[in-house]
Amino acid sequence: MKVLVLNSGSSSIKYQLFNMEEESVLARGIVERIGIEDSFLEQENIEGEELLWQEDVADHSQGISLVIDALQDEKKGVLENMDEINALGHRVVHGGEKFADSVLITSEVVEKIEEVSELAPLHNPPNLAGIKECQRLMPDKPQVGVFDTAFHQTMPEEAYIYALPYEYYQKYGIRRYGFHGTSHKFVSRRAAELMDKALEELKIITCHLGNGASVAAVDQGRSVDTSMGLTPLEGLVMGTRCGDIDPAIVPFLQKKEGLEPEEVDSIMNKESGLLGISGISNDSRDVSEAAQQGNKRARLAAKVFNYRVKKYIGAYAAAMGGTDAIVFTAGIGENDGAIRAAILENLEFLGFKLDETKNNTRGEEIEISTPGSRVKVFAIPTNEELVIARDTAKILENRE
Ligand code: AMP
Repeated sequence: MKVLVLNSGSSSIKYQLFNMEEESVLARGIVERIGIEDSFLEQENIEGEELLWQEDVADHSQGISLVIDALQDEKKGVLENMDEINALGHRVVHGGEKFADSVLITSEVVEKIEEVSELAPLHNPPNLAGIKECQRLMPDKPQVGVFDTAFHQTMPEEAYIYALPYEYYQKYGIRRYGFHGTSHKFVSRRAAELMDKALEELKIITCHLGNGASVAAVDQGRSVDTSMGLTPLEGLVMGTRCGDIDPAIVPFLQKKEGLEPEEVDSIMNKESGLLGISGISNDSRDVSEAAQQGNKRARLAAKVFNYRVKKYIGAYAAAMGGTDAIVFTAGIGENDGAIRAAILENLEFLGFKLDETKNNTRGEEIEISTPGSRVKVFAIPTNEELVIARDTAKILENRE
C-alpha cells in the first residue's frame, strides 16, 4: 500500500510518499513560497536523487499538481501513475472538540473542519485548501485527516478549562486544546516499547522542543495535560513565541504602544521567544553560539527557555503523582544534549541520573539516563508523517 502524506501550510506544501509494507519513504519534498515570488519544488527520492523545479506556484491547486508531476517525473520520480497511490493522509492543525481521532474525510468532515477554523485561522484554511484540491484532482482516492489536537482530547476538565466566565467556553469554545499531539503520541508509545512495558502502567512526560515547543503529561497512554492552549502560543518559550505571560501585559502594551490587537498578537507570535529576548535569532543554535561567546541576552534567552521546560516537567510530575519517563524530541530535544542537560539539572530528585556520555548523542533514539535510574530519560526522534501514514493505512484497512 502506498500513502501520500501532505502537510499544507499557508505558503508551503510538505509531502512524503510511504510504502507501507516496509514503512519506507519513497520520496519526500516541499513546495515553497506558494503565492510568493521565487516559488519552487524540491524533492528527494529513495535513491537520494534530488529534483529542483523553480516555477511560479500561485496557489495550493498548482502546488498539488506540481507534487503529482514530481512524483511521476520520468527520471527522478517514483510512480508510473497516480493510480499506484492508495490513499492520502492530511495533517490538520485544529480539530476543536469535534475530532478525538483521525477520520476518513467526507463532506461532513470538511464542514466540521471549516466550523473550527476560526480557532486556527492561519493553519486550518491552508490545510483545507490542500484537502479540497486533492478531492478535486483525485476524487476516487480515500483521504484521511489527522489532527494535531486529537491526542489531547482526553484531558480532564480541570486541565482544559480556563478560569474565565464559563459562557466563553460555551459560546466560543475557548479552552485548552493543545497541539503537537501526533508527536506526543508517537514518542510516548515509543518510550513504552523501549521500556518493554505496557502504556497503561506508565506516566510519561514528553517534551517536544523545536521551533514550536510543548510538553505533555501522558498518563496510561492518555494525554492528561499539555502546555499549549487555545492556540500554540501558550506554554513554553519558543523560537518566536512568548509562551506563558501575564495576560494583563496585552492591554498594557496596547495602551502604551498604541497597538491594535492584531499587532500585539503578531509581536507575541513572531517577535518574542528566543528571538525576542536575545535579539539575535529564533534558532536555538545561533542563540547557544552567541551565549557561548558571552552575549548576555542570548545567555538569558537560553536560561529562560530551559527554566520554563524544567517548570513544566515538575508541574506534570505533580499532576500525575510522579513520572516513569521523560522524553525529549523535535529539533532541539533530539539534538541538543547541552540544552537537555540544563533542563534536567536539579530534577534528579524525580529519580534519574543523566548519563553524560550518552546525552552527547545527536539525532538518535537513545536512553540518556543511567541503567540504574528508576525514571528513564530518552531522546526519541519524532515522526509525525509516519503516524499520519499509519493512521491513514489503518482507516483504509478497516474500511475494506
Ligand atoms: P524543529 O522545529 O523541530 O525543526 O526544530 C527547530 C529547532 O531545532 C531550532 O531551534 C534548531 O536550532 C534546533 N536544531 C535543529 N537541529 C539541531 C542540531 N543538530 N543541534 C542543535 N539544535 C538543532
